[in-house]
Amino acid sequence: MNNTEKLAERGSKVIMNTYSRFPIAFDHGEGMYVWDMDGKKYLDFVAGIAVNSLGYSNPKLGKKIAEQSMKLIHVSNLYYTEPQIELAEMLCENSCFDKVFFCNSGAETIESALKIARKYAAMKGKSGRTIITMEKSFHGRTYGAVTATGQDKYHKGLDPLLPDIKHVPFNDFEAIEKAADDSVCAILMEPIQGEGGIIPAKKEYLQKVRKLCDEKDIVLLFDEVQCGVGRTGYLFAYQAYGVEPDGACFAKGLAGGVPIGAFMAKDKLAQAFKQGDHASTFGGNPFATSCGTVVMHELLDGGLLDNVKKQGELLSKRLIELKQKHSIIKEARGFGLIQGIELTIPAGDVIADCINNGLLLVGAGANVIRFVPALIVTEKEINEAMDILDKALFRAEEK
Ligand SMILES: *Cc1c(COP(=O)(O)O)cnc(C)c1O
Repeated sequence: MNNTEKLAERGSKVIMNTYSRFPIAFDHGEGMYVWDMDGKKYLDFVAGIAVNSLGYSNPKLGKKIAEQSMKLIHVSNLYYTEPQIELAEMLCENSCFDKVFFCNSGAETIESALKIARKYAAMKGKSGRTIITMEKSFHGRTYGAVTATGQDKYHKGLDPLLPDIKHVPFNDFEAIEKAADDSVCAILMEPIQGEGGIIPAKKEYLQKVRKLCDEKDIVLLFDEVQCGVGRTGYLFAYQAYGVEPDGACFAKGLAGGVPIGAFMAKDKLAQAFKQGDHASTFGGNPFATSCGTVVMHELLDGGLLDNVKKQGELLSKRLIELKQKHSIIKEARGFGLIQGIELTIPAGDVIADCINNGLLLVGAGANVIRFVPALIVTEKEINEAMDILDKALFRAEEK
C-alpha cells in the first residue's frame, strides 16, 4: 500500500461513512494543482467544490491568515471587529443589499433566509408561511435547508421535515404562478442550479418571478452559495441576470477556503430580524472575514472578474467543440466558471478516467460533469483539462 492508500484506510475506520470518497489523500497544493501523499500531481477543476476561489497556497491569503491569526481569531458578536465591518461594507457597497448576517456555511445562510422570510411575513401581519423552492435544487443538509432542497434522495428517512415548503419545477413560470397563492410568503431558488446539474435560470423567467413577487409582496430569495462571488464573471449571479432578489445567500468561495457564510438582504427585509432573533457564535469572526476581504479585493481590484469572463468564454468554446466531437455529450451548459456537460451515459466512469489521468472533476447529478475551477485558472490549464477530458470521452465511447 502507498501512503495515499494507507491514509484512506485509516480514515475509513474513524470517519463517519457519509461520503462516497475517492481513495485519494491530498497533501498540498499550489495554484491550480494539488499533490497526493505520494507526490502524484492533479490539475484541479473541482476547487474543493467551488470553494478555493484563489487556488491553493495563494500568498496574499496566506499572509492575511498569518497576520490576522496573531491579532484576533475570534471574540464573538458581543463586539465589533474591523475585518467583519470591512467585509460587510465591501459586500453592501458592491451589491443591491444593505445588510449582512455572517455565519459559517451555505446551509446556515439558507436557515437565515428561511427564518427571515417567515419573520417578515409575521411582521407584515400576513398569515401565509409557505416557502416555494425548486425541484432539483440543492440548499444544504440542515433540517430547513434539506427540506428546501427539491430532491427526494436527500429526504429519505428524515421525516417529519420542516412544514410548509412546496417544490415546483424550475424555469416554469406557470407552475410558480399557480403555486403562489395567499399561503406563500417566499420563493427561494438558485439562479444557476449547481448540484442539480448546472442548470441556469432563463432571464425572462427570473424577470417574471420578480414581478410576481412584487405584486404579491412575496420575498424573493436567491441561493448564490455556489454561483455567487465571482463565479459567473459578475460579482454576484443576480447581476448577470439584472434581476434583484430581496435577499441572497453566499458561502463557498467567499473566503477562499476558510469556512464562511453571508446572508444579505435589502433593508425592507433585513428589518424583520430584530435583536436576539438570530445568531451564530463563530459567524463573522475576524479570521474568516479578513480572508473574505482578500477574496473581494482580488475580485474588485485584482482583475479576477475579467479573468473569469475570459476563461469562461474559452471553457464554453472548448466544451461546445467537445460536444460536436462526442455523441455522448447531450448538452453543454452554464457560463463563467460554472459550467457542465450532460452525458447520455453515467458521468462516473468518465470522471474516474480523468482522475486517473491527473484531472480532478466532480459530477452534478448522475449524468452531468461539472466544471468549477478556481477563478485564477488560465488558458493553458483549461486547454490541458479539455485535452484530458477529450481522451477520456473517446475511451468512454469505445466501450
Ligand atoms: C453547497 C451548497 C449549499 C450548502 O452549503 P454548505 O456549506 O455545504 O452547507 C447550499 N446551496 C448551494 C446552492 C450549494 O451549492
